[in-house]
Amino acid sequence: MLDLVIRGGLVADTEHRTFLPLQIGIKDGIIAALSKEPLHGKREICAEGLLVSPGFIDVHGHVDGDDYAGELSVCQGITTTVGGNCGLSPVDMKAFFAEQEQKGFAVNQVELVGHSFSLRKAVGLEDVYEKASDAQIARMKRLAYQALQDGACGVSFGLDYSPGASLKEIEALAEVSASFGRIVPVHTRLFTLYDLSSLYEMLYIARKTGARLLFSHFVYQYGEGIMREALDIVDRARQDGLWVRIDSGLYTEWATYAGTATFDEQTIRDNELRFGDMLVATGPHMGQWLDEALYRKVREQEPDESIICFTGQKEEIYEALRKDYAMPSTDIGAYRKGEGHPQIAGSFPKFIREMVRERGELTMEEAIYKATLLPARTFSLPDKGRIAVGADADLVIFDPQAIADTAAFPDRGQPDAKPVGIEHVLVNGEFAVESGVFCGTRSGKVLRASGKSRSGGRRAAGAKTGFVKAASFRKPEL
Ligand SMILES: [Zn+2]
Repeated sequence: MLDLVIRGGLVADTEHRTFLPLQIGIKDGIIAALSKEPLHGKREICAEGLLVSPGFIDVHGHVDGDDYAGELSVCQGITTTVGGNCGLSPVDMKAFFAEQEQKGFAVNQVELVGHSFSLRKAVGLEDVYEKASDAQIARMKRLAYQALQDGACGVSFGLDYSPGASLKEIEALAEVSASFGRIVPVHTRLFTLYDLSSLYEMLYIARKTGARLLFSHFVYQYGEGIMREALDIVDRARQDGLWVRIDSGLYTEWATYAGTATFDEQTIRDNELRFGDMLVATGPHMGQWLDEALYRKVREQEPDESIICFTGQKEEIYEALRKDYAMPSTDIGAYRKGEGHPQIAGSFPKFIREMVRERGELTMEEAIYKATLLPARTFSLPDKGRIAVGADADLVIFDPQAIADTAAFPDRGQPDAKPVGIEHVLVNGEFAVESGVFCGTRSGKVLRASGKSRSGGRRAAGAKTGFVKAASFRKPEL
């Protein structure tokens, strides 16, 4: 007997980028049947007028086990999140995964080990402008190796946050990830607003190490009027045979911690940014625009609060996300309730609202593919991103005419307001959102990358990486 049957909806076939009128049968967290004929289960729901898509996969987040970030993710249809981005992650991956399994989580979690904050800190590099010594590089390599061995899906960089990172240091760590056939997501370093050399730096590393590159939140890096040039560089690298993809959110306004090198006075000057374009996103000054006095105060006394920088050209969002190697992402951070950047709650519904419904940049089939199967393939998740017999029952069921974000910047609204038009979300066959209401279910699993390192790491691009699922299902704690 099937546990659950979903009938009446149009089911996304992401492999062929089409929709089919099928009934879906779920048993033990897996899609057990797909049929044109009526199926029967212990429970049956009607999805008439709705689309049934594989759960969205967020390739760039900072959820990292934070419960509220997990809730905001699943409420926008995300069922798998990739954490540890921008060089900020747990270092002891074994302990992190064990803790997540023990408490259970709203969504499935894939995790990167991060260089620029975390590995550097772990070897005693406190000064972001300092170069790592040979001994420190060797220690970072060992820690990265161990994290990858323990299931991290790659090594992430946030080079903007560690201006002192040398090419040697970057190459050494990218090579470790490449030796496992895993990915290297990069928040590139930007010396100015128009820094295309940051792309060449990483393409050089990819060529040398065989690492697969994912350029993170591409619009935040290159959405200043140089998008065409930046995409041309990526296109050319791909034509040359390098494995390169990009992700982006639906905003040009980026956010990060006040205390980071990104908000150094010199960096602000080099980037021609203005205090008046910066909005405090969290903490006691949330919703206030910076002036010089408030800048100094927040920077010195509240370095862990976030600031949103209003910059960039909106058209460049669509230009980037139209690319067939581009995936939507949130850049979600772990904020307190009522705080943050609207990307944390609205990104995926906004992707469909703007790209499909309002602007017609993509068909619904293409948009769903970019949010599901393309990221599943990018992160070697064979049981995700498809609605097929044997695949995991991660599903989002939504109204294509109604799906929309409602989150707003904190000077004008609620940054964590939940979207509308998403009826149900299932994570491993359990309702995480039911009839538009968050259930508090913890059916998300930890997805550990598996597969051994090939020493040398020169030929690892495209090497097969598998994932092992851990039994982590917990009953809801309501
Ligand atoms: Zn970043």
